[in-house]
Amino acid sequence: MKQVQDHDVEIEYKFVSDMEIRPGACIDCMFTVLIRRSYKFIDLQDLGSPSIKRILRHEVVLWECKNCGRQFTIKNQKLPLDTNYTKDVKNYVLKRVLEMGDSMKRVVSDLATLHNVTIDVSTIHKWVNIKAAREAEAEYIAGDQLIIEHSGALSLDATFKVVRRKKSE
Ligand SMILES: [Zn+2]
Repeated sequence: MKQVQDHDVEIEYKFVSDMEIRPGACIDCMFTVLIRRSYKFIDLQDLGSPSIKRILRHEVVLWECKNCGRQFTIKNQKLPLDTNYTKDVKNYVLKRVLEMGDSMKRVVSDLATLHNVTIDVSTIHKWVNIKAAREAEAEYIAGDQLIIEHSGALSLDATFKVVRRKKSE
């Protein structure tokens, strides 16, 4: 679907629907008859070009169980839940700020003029902080596992052998 906007900018829409990921059963009682209770559209900004604004329109479906009445939505893996931007926009921003060392203001300005994406510095700041926190956590877990592995190799070897022998008897 295409639509002409002012200043010779075209809007291009892509659609993603939760109908593509229809759940097989109720998340509570596992009953398999579900109805489509309602739906809504959420527009996400995608990376465009100087003359094309791209929108990814997500149809969010609210399912209802015919047995217990539980209503729920299913997380669509194609889309980030926490923002109204596509994964592509998010990756672009993180790559430029964290890997290429570009300033957030520069990225905001480039997104607006070159890609027809409207974003503010505070949103980018939030993404960068979340990514930094996740990486710190991953490093912490990796460091922790390393210690467990070492102690296991040093002290538990004999114990493992005993357990194995008992199992095969
Ligand atoms: Zn149910």
